[in-house]
Amino acid sequence: MLERVGPDGELLFGSQFHKFGGFGQRTKVALRAETLRERVEHFVNWASQLAHCLDRPHEVIPPDPHGALGTGRFRRTLAWHIARRPGALIALEVQYGHMRTAVSAGYASRSRDSIHDLLDIETARATADTLATLAADRAAGSGMSGPVARRAILAAGQAPAFEGVVFTARQARKLLTNPTLAVHDNPNAFLTCVYNPDKALCQLRGSQETPSLGRCVSTCANIARTDQHAAQLVLKADELDKQAAGGLVPGPLSERLRDHAVGLRDLADKHYRERIALSEAPA
Ligand code: SF4
Repeated sequence: MLERVGPDGELLFGSQFHKFGGFGQRTKVALRAETLRERVEHFVNWASQLAHCLDRPHEVIPPDPHGALGTGRFRRTLAWHIARRPGALIALEVQYGHMRTAVSAGYASRSRDSIHDLLDIETARATADTLATLAADRAAGSGMSGPVARRAILAAGQAPAFEGVVFTARQARKLLTNPTLAVHDNPNAFLTCVYNPDKALCQLRGSQETPSLGRCVSTCANIARTDQHAAQLVLKADELDKQAAGGLVPGPLSERLRDHAVGLRDLADKHYRERIALSEAPA
């Protein structure tokens, strides 16, 4: 939404396009912290009022015991979503394309500002969580398939080292630059990306320190899948078939939905054919 409010290449919170009553300012500057703080609070009030008006009290944003959100906590929330919700609440291009590439490239020669530190910390925490999930799957006897299944299994073996770690920005960067731990959950594509920039099909230009999860390509050599992912593929396929059969979508669209469902089931079948037990992990 923020990307749509302003033209391409502009700041997400550029004052030029977020000012009421005029677009006179020509320079590329962000909204002042004070204004942003007010806008966040206004948004919270507006969202809660709307929830009341629409008779959806469960969607009211509850009073915060820690007081106003403020820009610091808003940044942290933004970073959390950027790191963990590819393709969901924060648009993909904003997520890794804009925030990570455009912004970090622009600031490459300067000291890293706080949003970069937060992004690194949240991405490192997301990676640690992914490792922990893989380790738990392993303990539960799950299997893993895909070209990088063994690398993912090896990475999962290092999960205990990060249990309960409160990352500093420096520790986060250390984890993120460790190629053996470059494991990213990609829930929208039902896979784990074990990132190797040289083989990444989602990268259009050169190497990047993080994958473009929203542009994931199903034939990439960095893919690993667990039994969980395979089960989710089947669930999604069922959902698509149901939509196709519901009579609410036109013929050609329901055919596409069915084709997509077949493709997802094929991926799940492939997983079960090729899976290796996580317990067979190399030492
Ligand atoms: S295309 Fe490959 S590198 Fe990119 S997100 Fe998908 S699995 Fe990862």
